[in-house]
Amino acid sequence: MVVVMQEGATDDQVQHVVQHLVEMGFDVHRSTGVRHTVLGAVGAKLDFDTRDIELLDGVREVIRISAPYKLASRTFRPEGTVVEVGGVRIGGDEVVVMAGPCSVESAEQMEAIAAHVKREGARILRGGAFKPRTSPYSFQGLGEPGLQLLREAADRHGLLAVSEVMDHTQISLLDRYVDILQVGARNMQNYNLLRELGKARKTVLLKRGMSSTMEELLLSAEYILAGGNYQVILCERGIRTFENYTRNTLDIAAIPVLKKLSHLPIVADPSHGTGRRDKVPPMARAAVAAGADGLLVEVHHDPEHALSDGAQSLFPDQFTQLMKELRIIAPAVGRRVG
Ligand code: PEP
Ligand code: MN
Repeated sequence: MVVVMQEGATDDQVQHVVQHLVEMGFDVHRSTGVRHTVLGAVGAKLDFDTRDIELLDGVREVIRISAPYKLASRTFRPEGTVVEVGGVRIGGDEVVVMAGPCSVESAEQMEAIAAHVKREGARILRGGAFKPRTSPYSFQGLGEPGLQLLREAADRHGLLAVSEVMDHTQISLLDRYVDILQVGARNMQNYNLLRELGKARKTVLLKRGMSSTMEELLLSAEYILAGGNYQVILCERGIRTFENYTRNTLDIAAIPVLKKLSHLPIVADPSHGTGRRDKVPPMARAAVAAGADGLLVEVHHDPEHALSDGAQSLFPDQFTQLMKELRIIAPAVGRRVG
């Protein structure tokens, strides 16, 4: 249930409603919007009369949310969420570009890629240090030394850093090195991880599982929000379909659908979404045109020798060209690229 307070409701009135909801057995999450304060009441309680709340002073409206996710629902924050991290705003007018290699491999590699993507307007440097590989014989990532290299390259170039956290025991380690914790597609339903991330005070980039519905994605986001961590960014990275020409099918339609269902920002990952570097720029352009708040793009200075995902990593000059194109497309849909 969501309780929308009247414009200008006093803090005492809000507190009184919160107390009432707590007494009824709800967990209350408060969202202070530009005009209205909205209270999200979540919990297992089913039999209550909304009029009990409607009649309290300062209450404008009580809305029962029938979707199974509540805090992730657009009703909770109709104006949308801007996730602010280290001076970068995700979900505002800027389409935020996160770029970098699939895996952190070496200091030279990170320096070359960070310098290039920064020059072209990326804000966030990506690079996996713990890699969820389909085969146990594939490169598994450099671990903590990789996080160090990512952090150093990001700092040298004034970029933020994002890297994947594979399980809850890694949160405190990753927290020391990165600005955004990525939850990979394979872990979207790792509920222990999600619950622990709800307790963290760090931005989470939550990727859609490769066989997950949008509702399942939003329920996974709900785990993090219900823990009190509201810094969540969704990511469409392609789903598994009967088509196997591309590695996955990038579900562009998920962008406007999720925008409607949820207030959370959404970014698109056309690299994992297609698996082929020649298909990455067209899908990146399409994602921005469809309203994505950002892109996650794999870029490598020498993709032919990359230790993972080389085939889908852009050459530096392809990234340059893509950024030029995005600077034309973004204004057409009322956005800009940094
Ligand atoms: C990645 O970003 O490198 C990655 C492993 O992504 P996903 O979880 O979407 O496969
Ligand atoms: Mn990858």
